[in-house]
Amino acid sequence: QPVLAVVGRPNVGKSTLVNRIIGRREAVVQDVPGVTRDRVAYDALWNGRKFTVVDTGGWEPDATGMMASVAAQAELAMNTADAILFVVDATVGATTTEEAAVKVLRRSKRPVLLVANKVDDERLLAEVASLWSLGLGEPLPVSGLHGRGSGDVLDKILDVLPETPRDTFESARGGPRRVALVGRPNVGKSSLLNRLTGEERAVVDSVAGTTVDPVDSLVELDDEVWRFVDTAGLRKRVNFASGAEYYASLRTKAAIESAEVAIVLLDAAEPLSEQDLRVLSMVVDSGRACVLAFNKWDLVDEDRRHAMVRELERGLVRVPWAERVNISALTGRSVRKLAPALRTALTSWDTRVPTGRLNSWLTELIAATPPPVRSGKQPKVLFATQAATRPPTFVLFTTGFLEAGYRRFIERRLREEFGFEGSPVRISVRVRE
Ligand code: GDP
Repeated sequence: QPVLAVVGRPNVGKSTLVNRIIGRREAVVQDVPGVTRDRVAYDALWNGRKFTVVDTGGWEPDATGMMASVAAQAELAMNTADAILFVVDATVGATTTEEAAVKVLRRSKRPVLLVANKVDDERLLAEVASLWSLGLGEPLPVSGLHGRGSGDVLDKILDVLPETPRDTFESARGGPRRVALVGRPNVGKSSLLNRLTGEERAVVDSVAGTTVDPVDSLVELDDEVWRFVDTAGLRKRVNFASGAEYYASLRTKAAIESAEVAIVLLDAAEPLSEQDLRVLSMVVDSGRACVLAFNKWDLVDEDRRHAMVRELERGLVRVPWAERVNISALTGRSVRKLAPALRTALTSWDTRVPTGRLNSWLTELIAATPPPVRSGKQPKVLFATQAATRPPTFVLFTTGFLEAGYRRFIERRLREEFGFEGSPVRISVRVRE
């Protein structure tokens, strides 16, 4: 969901205003320099639209003074938010601190709403008008305390915030979910497709409201219709002339990119090959959900099974989260397990963790296991937000660099807490300078 950052000098009434915006009477934290809040991101809802409010007010002014601190807030807000609410105290007017912040805000491409707070009284409206001089457009008068004007501000916020994240996938608009069936030559892709379209009912005519590219196949699995993309390439036997492999890999890449979830088919009877790992990497790098299907299970004996354990542990380090299904396209063994695995992976891929829940979990985690100290400093994790789904993408805001090992630790615990089986998860760290 879109993010609104609230920026302003300490004591201009940001917290009171934030409480107005989120419509809650949370304990108002004293808005004075030096007071740090451990949680600064909140979920807000207005006119049926959800957004995240980030209160940047908790920063401690650093050694270089308050002006630098507010500029740093503005900088952070710029980098993280979709829109910025800049709060000025109408009873004080614009100070040099505000002027410094405006310089930073101007550089951003983000919309900025200028709010004059503490307008508890009509007589202050002249002061409000003087804020035009900041060059941020019309100053909006509010009283955080009485709530006056806050409805108008909320309407304006909705005007400038972008709609909730755009979906680039067709399925979001309905229609069957899109599956790429990928794997190196000879793993059994066309055999599996034939099995799926033969045994299960192949849907020949198009489903109402969808147009199907002739190279795709609609397949009914487990009472649900799925769209297998670019299956034309699987039906025809590819001629291995020179360059065919390169062409096949381009085609695989395109199929993955037009799908939401990939079935990566592996040959259970053979050791994992470089080519298998390349296909797997393509799926992970594309951020698509993924199911691993070990085909030719009918050929796997006791010895092979033992050998596989070590081999897969090493070979599949990038995808410990992917569900594994052992199947045989030849005998039909366990192919019915594919649909539930696809569904699980897509559900994870679509998951959104509410900001409040994410942060209360994170606060506890960090308190129990703080990030390792680097060059004498203890980086603080300020808060986190889920910036996107498909795949779930998280942003951690910190005061310092987090080591790769610690980031992996966070991802592992995040998965333990919230699941995400079958989906990659992305975590990025934004360091406040
Ligand atoms: P593709 O290149 O990935 O499309 O692979 P194919 O579907 O053409 O299969 C390659 C070979 O593996 C063929 O000879 C298939 O008969 C064989 N094959 C496919 N699936 C299985 C399976 O589950 N068990 C066994 N034993 N052979 C299989």
